[in-house]
Amino acid sequence: MSDAFEPVDLAVVGAGISGLACAFWAKRQGRSVLLFESSERAGGCIKSVQTEAYIADGGPQSFLSSEVLEELIGDAELGRLVLPAEASATRAYIYVGRRLVAVPQSPQQALASPLLSPFAKARALIEPLVPRAPSEHEESVADFVRRRAGTAVLDRVVAPYVSGIFAGDPAKLSMASSFPQMLRLEREHGSLLRGMMARPKTKSGSKPPRRRSFGFAGGNDVLVRGLAEHLAPDLRVNSPVTALWQRGAWWELLVGGKTDARVVAKSVVLATPASAAASLLEPLEPKSAEALAAFEYPTIVQIALVYPRTSIGVPLDGFGFLVPRTEGLKILGCVWNSAMFPDRSPSDEALVTAFLGGATDASVAALSDEALTRQAHEDLRQVLRIDDTSPRVVAGFRWQEAIPQYNIGHAERLAAVDKGLKRLPHVKLCGSYLKSPSVSDCIATARVALASL
Ligand SMILES: Cc1cc2nc3c(=O)[nH]c(=O)nc-3n(C[C@H](O)[C@H](O)[C@H](O)COP(=O)(O)OP(=O)(O)OC[C@H]3O[C@@H](n4cnc5c(N)ncnc54)[C@H](O)[C@@H]3O)c2cc1C
Repeated sequence: MSDAFEPVDLAVVGAGISGLACAFWAKRQGRSVLLFESSERAGGCIKSVQTEAYIADGGPQSFLSSEVLEELIGDAELGRLVLPAEASATRAYIYVGRRLVAVPQSPQQALASPLLSPFAKARALIEPLVPRAPSEHEESVADFVRRRAGTAVLDRVVAPYVSGIFAGDPAKLSMASSFPQMLRLEREHGSLLRGMMARPKTKSGSKPPRRRSFGFAGGNDVLVRGLAEHLAPDLRVNSPVTALWQRGAWWELLVGGKTDARVVAKSVVLATPASAAASLLEPLEPKSAEALAAFEYPTIVQIALVYPRTSIGVPLDGFGFLVPRTEGLKILGCVWNSAMFPDRSPSDEALVTAFLGGATDASVAALSDEALTRQAHEDLRQVLRIDDTSPRVVAGFRWQEAIPQYNIGHAERLAAVDKGLKRLPHVKLCGSYLKSPSVSDCIATARVALASL
């Protein structure tokens, strides 16, 4: 074992967006930082594949604007590469009854939409009359929606949406932890519809502006690559942190790789998926580690395919579509990347990304890349009315530990993690299992971790 590193103010473990943001801002504050990444590249589950003609995005297909994300982009001087999504990208579709139905964007559109039957609409409209649930009872997303708005709203609207955000199972996800703002509407207004009507307006009395959807020219991983460039040479890839222990007022980390090295740091931020944080904390705070190890991460697969535009029988005039499980397809949905960002493919072709797996379909883990690609193409042929063309496969991504499930008991698990961590001075966590899996919230947790050190 060698003492290869000088002592630093901060060691960050894990170079996904959370760890990168944390290390980047720490360095800007003038702290000495080392960022360790176990794999051969920084970025975690934000990864793009660029070939001569195509750009495929793995992980997020686009970002939603937020203060913290825009600040990071500005600080990293990446603003010039931001690519606003085409205006049509605000439209999304749901595949029901063998056709694509636009997601209604207003109550009037919802009433006219074929997404729900007249009976289901009538059931949804009596939502304000449904009594509140007792606040001590932790409900699943499925139970909450079924109780308030009926089964059809759950199956045809909420469940596909939940698979789009969490790749989750509404029967297991906690309403309080996954959609706290919706639950608050029920608690404060007695009804979602009433609560939405009473939503706070801006000072001028108008509705708050819609969050902007954007990507990056050249691929969405420009964000993480840009941060990584700023951090070089303090970013070490192929450097898994395998142990953490306390020595006096300092922390020591064992970093594996070609040769083991010891790192001494005043503070440590663990920005890994929950399971890796659990392994490192196990000898120090076993109860926190046990709670972290209990987070579920389903396998998610993304396959980017290219078709000639003329072979597609529906207009690609939106973000893409989601598929309710009741429709009998394997894909969870599909994003129309080149409709959103024209630089993703030549204009006479369309690059689209199909999603499979998630918490409601564990079978993808055992299926080969070829089988999944065949299945994705079969499903897309049906939905997009594609003629006999075979697609060009641009990239496939298999994520094992990408989206943590905010299942029933999530808040208790976080409280157990927190309690133990309070006994470890200068060790903090950040990442997608703390606030929400969105990139903005990952960055927000990095900022909070840093501010507390
Ligand atoms: C398919 C998919 C679609 C998504 N879509 C969106 C979207 O549209 N909008 C949105 O906002 N978000 C989206 N997300 C979520 C978002 O991308 C993630 O929540 C976020 O990127 C997670 O970042 P992270 O840094 O917390 O974790 P990760 O990206 O998982 O990074 C953790 C890093 O830690 C490293 N590591 C693990 N153990 C160790 C160790 N012992 N030592 C050193 N390093 C270690 C890992 O190799 C990894 O690089 C999507 C995610 C996926 C997978």
